[in-house]
Formats: sequence, C-alpha cells, structure tokens
Amino acid sequence: QEADLVDLVERAADAFRVTHPGHPLTVAPGPRAVPVRLDPQRIRQVLDNLLTNAAVHTPAGTPVSVAVSAAPGSARVRIADAGPGIPPADRERVFDRFYRVDKARSRDRGGSGLGLAVAQSLVRAHGGRIDLTGEPGATVFTVTLPSARDGGGRPGAGG
Ligand code: ATP
Ligand code: MG
Repeated sequence: QEADLVDLVERAADAFRVTHPGHPLTVAPGPRAVPVRLDPQRIRQVLDNLLTNAAVHTPAGTPVSVAVSAAPGSARVRIADAGPGIPPADRERVFDRFYRVDKARSRDRGGSGLGLAVAQSLVRAHGGRIDLTGEPGATVFTVTLPSARDGGGRPGAGG
C-alpha cells in the first residue's frame, strides 16, 4: 500500500523519544510528505531497528538525527548518530546475521546481531537498499526506497 514516509518517520521519532529519553533526537526539516509504496509496519520496524542501534551502541547522551528526502524515483531516510562509528572493515558484515562489531560489549547490551539483517531484508523486499557510511565519531545509515510515483523502478537506476 502507499504511505507517507514523513509521517512514518515522525511516528518512529515520537516513539524513540519515549523509549530512549537519554538520546536527543532531531528530525531535520524536509518535505511535508513523501508518498512511498510500502508496508508501514515493516518499514516502521526498519526505522525502529536503526534508531535503537543509534541508542544502544553509543554512549548515553549521544545525539541522533533523522532526515527524509525525495529525489526523482526514490525516497530516502538518513539516520545518523554521533557515536563511536563502525570501522570500515566491519561495515559490510554488520548486515550479516549474528554479526556484532564488539562481541563482548554487544553481548552486554543483549543484542543478538539480527537487527540489521532483518532491516536489510525488509528494505530489499520493498525494492530498496540500506547503505552504511560514516567515520570515527559518526555512523550514518541511509534507507533508499523506490517512490510511489516512480512506477516501481529501482532506486539509483538513473533518470
Ligand atoms: P539486535 O538488533 O538483534 O538486538 P544488535 O543491535 O547487536 O542486536 P544489529 O542491529 O544487527 O545487531 O547490529 C549489528 C552490530 O553493528 C551491533 O552489534 C553493533 O556492533 C554494530 N552497530 C549497529 N549500529 C551501530 C551504531 N549506530 N553505532 C555503532 N555500532 C553499531
Ligand atoms: Mg540492533
């Protein structure tokens, strides 16, 4: 079905502020609405996984920011935090099931290492992709989805 990605992100942000009050969250000003053909529950789960990671894998107080943008044919959500970052060597493997960067620390936090694998498969099932960039002192996940008006073309396929 079709849903407004901006609305979905605002709902996820509101929930995050309640569940993770120790992490200041900013939603960047952007388009008023970005219609996307998606399953709202599944994409909400993706947003929740990424937001939760930005809280549980960073020190208390680490700021988190979210931004929604639209380009011809695709829509994007960018979730960034000012935490320790993910080393380049681990950036592909964090999407593997059960993979955690720092096993001992991650186990303390109770994570199973499934969140990103699930998020990636849900996004791919929508014809989209998740990209991870960043540097020491920042982690940036970008979710790209084909936009509703695009007739189902792949994001980044040009045009
Ligand atoms: P689960 O999500 O299943 O509860 P998890 O959070 O450990 O467990 P993933 O969400 O798949 O698993 O994340 C995999 C690993 O990637 C994490 O264990 C952590 O090492 C690293 N990671 C993910 N997000 C961040 C982030 N924002 N900052 C730093 N490290 C991160
Ligand atoms: Mg996780």
